[in-house]
Amino acid sequence: MDLVAYVDTVPASGETVQGRQFRQVPGGKGANQAVAAARAGAQVCFLGAVGDDAFGVQLRTTLVDNGIDVSGLRTVGGPSGTAHIVVDGDGNNSIIVVPGANGTVTALREGDVRLLDGARALLLQLETPLSGVLAAARAGRSLGVTTVLTPAPARPLPAELLDCVDVLLPNQHEAAALTGHDDPEQALAALLEAVPEVVVTLGGDGALYGARGHEPIRVPALRVEPVDTTGAGDTFCGAFAVARAEGQDPESALRFAARAAALSVQRPGASTSMPTRPEIDAFAD
Ligand code: ATP
Repeated sequence: MDLVAYVDTVPASGETVQGRQFRQVPGGKGANQAVAAARAGAQVCFLGAVGDDAFGVQLRTTLVDNGIDVSGLRTVGGPSGTAHIVVDGDGNNSIIVVPGANGTVTALREGDVRLLDGARALLLQLETPLSGVLAAARAGRSLGVTTVLTPAPARPLPAELLDCVDVLLPNQHEAAALTGHDDPEQALAALLEAVPEVVVTLGGDGALYGARGHEPIRVPALRVEPVDTTGAGDTFCGAFAVARAEGQDPESALRFAARAAALSVQRPGASTSMPTRPEIDAFAD
């Protein structure tokens, strides 16, 4: 759950300041990507955990309201995962993430593997412990499921995880953190040594796609008036995975994802801003 306080100036240690506004928004990269994929037309199962607090109920409801199968979502004792976000008067944010229930997702259960069997795509992020991500990636690989990993928050990735990833989908900052290259093309080339396909998203500059042995493809962002870009990356990832799972070629999947993300940045919020399939199909690029 994202808990967002808007202030003029972020308080220093020991200081108390008056906030201007407060918003509570269902979030988490996994949940956001699940909602994006469901709205883009996929049947989605969500694997993870929420706490036995009020946030847990709301987070579960958000997924259910979007038609997502939550039979793999556990409720565990203790708090749900929270992000405590302070946005200052210049729009800069400081964020504290407390994993809570997300920290308990350290392995797969038998039922989780059954949910994966027959899936066309598996979307993974790094907001849960690496051991659980790795277990899911291994199960995905053994079942032949196309696995897309968003390496956020960025951290060093073990080779055993990368070996199970088909598409790595970082934003430009994560790509730079993973490779040490600020130039997206250089970062892309470095990442392609570890995984077969890479998409680096570049915000308002679009996205760069590469596959081993092929020239990179650059897909521009659509020209729109952004209102709130929160969740643009998750919308892009969810929609891209749906298009790939439907058998679209990489370029048309990237264009589909760019249309979905461009629609989402024109509305406030993260999951609340994500477009439905008819909206994406009707939006000409
Ligand atoms: P976030 O963390 O805010 O979810 P991100 O940093 O993971 O986003 P970005 O690279 O900022 O991801 O954006 C993902 C995609 O969203 C871009 O590749 C682009 O297609 C689309 N997008 C982002 N910003 C804009 C914009 N200003 N106008 C149009 N499309 C945008």
